[in-house]
Amino acid sequence: MAGSEKTIAAISTPQAAGGIGIVRISGENARQVAQRVFHASSGKSVLAAKGYTALFGRVADQDGEFDEAVALVFAAPKSYTGEDVVELSCHGGLFLVRRLLAAVLAAGARPAGPGEFTRRAFLNGKLSLTGAEAVMDLIGAQGKQAAAAALAAKDGALGKRINGVKETILALSAHLAAWVDYPEDDIPALEPKAFQQDLADAQQELEGLLSGFDRGKVIREGVETVLAGRPNVGKSTLMNLLSGCERSIVTDIPGTTRDVVEETVRLRDVVLRLADTAGLRDTENPVEAAGVARTRERLKTAGLVLAVFDASESLNEEDRSLLKELKKSRAVAVINKTDLPVRVERNEIQAAIPQVVELSAASGQGYEALAEAVEAALGTAQIDPAAGMLATERQKQCALRAKDAVLEAREALEMGMTLDAVSVALDDAAAALLELTGERVTDAVLDQVFARFCVGK
Ligand code: GDP
Ligand code: ZN
Repeated sequence: MAGSEKTIAAISTPQAAGGIGIVRISGENARQVAQRVFHASSGKSVLAAKGYTALFGRVADQDGEFDEAVALVFAAPKSYTGEDVVELSCHGGLFLVRRLLAAVLAAGARPAGPGEFTRRAFLNGKLSLTGAEAVMDLIGAQGKQAAAAALAAKDGALGKRINGVKETILALSAHLAAWVDYPEDDIPALEPKAFQQDLADAQQELEGLLSGFDRGKVIREGVETVLAGRPNVGKSTLMNLLSGCERSIVTDIPGTTRDVVEETVRLRDVVLRLADTAGLRDTENPVEAAGVARTRERLKTAGLVLAVFDASESLNEEDRSLLKELKKSRAVAVINKTDLPVRVERNEIQAAIPQVVELSAASGQGYEALAEAVEAALGTAQIDPAAGMLATERQKQCALRAKDAVLEAREALEMGMTLDAVSVALDDAAAALLELTGERVTDAVLDQVFARFCVGK
């Protein structure tokens, strides 16, 4: 491949007007390409820049100079991609940035594909595959905890945990192979107990990672959350409280919320995708009955239900049917309107839904308690982002394959099958983990990973 084809360029800032716009160039001809477009005021050449260098000057295309710019030169291998990188920052108008990119392409770079800079960083050993995936998560992180988890993954927390399991399995596998090949030689005898214990530990670590994935999903993607409760208990008011602005229609007329109102809100670190629902009232009206059926369906499929009750009134039939409906759901009971004299049967609610919060949606009193109860119900409070978590479906599938293979190896050992069978299972486990970390991964998998990225990253 000619050198110029290997040099890629893209706009690295968002495709919108901003303070500055950056065109990033990476590859062995990055400096030559930049030098054709950029002229430093000092007369210095980009070609001669050493280490990290910032130069101020102007950028030009065939029609002449069109903006002031700063060129940041990162000499290989000390750059994001590990190659020579030049970042040209110009004023942020979209027109200017696009013109700059066009000039750079005309000067010999080719347009970068999605995630191609990060792919090169991975191929040049600057970043692990899980680290590269974390870059993506970092860009999309919705909350503080999610960002912390992504940053920890980028810094290799996940890699460390996986490597621990991987080393164990590779060591067992090597030991086993040596023993199968030369049983009469001087290789220490296989100690079945220690062997079993190591496998059990590996399995446990993998199971820990897998259960962390499900909990981590909550902070990465948010939770499908349903607001339930009979009319007039204050669902819309609560939704407005959580979203921090008036969206739902609050009325004194029961049953006003006909259509589902949806809103994404953040409760501390948890992102809730909230849907207000029609109630569970018995009704002859076919339109309302359809709404009730939809509510029932949503209660079953939701990741979290906020079941709202009116503190100032005794539980009625509809409240009780909601309690019954929620026996198996992940739910928090919200006793609303606690600013009024309390008449509701709190014990009866708590018997059905252990997490109970007292709140006044109208005044906001109890908001913190609600946030805590939601974190408790979702198990997000126990997430330690720094511990390293599986972050993508791909990673999860690899960990799952590894766990199943470890389990197979244990069973083969216990059932007294040949050591070959154990060995095959261990090799499967190792292969799955090597794919997880990206140490042994196909181009097709890489294509999939980086297709999720935006161009310019
Ligand atoms: P929804 O039908 O469940 O959505 O209930 P709304 O949010 O529309 O509220 C019904 C009525 O209860 C309205 O008049 C609200 O102002 C009132 N309300 C809601 N929350 C509170 C509260 O915390 N305290 C009191 N006193 N009234 C409330
Ligand atoms: Zn409402």
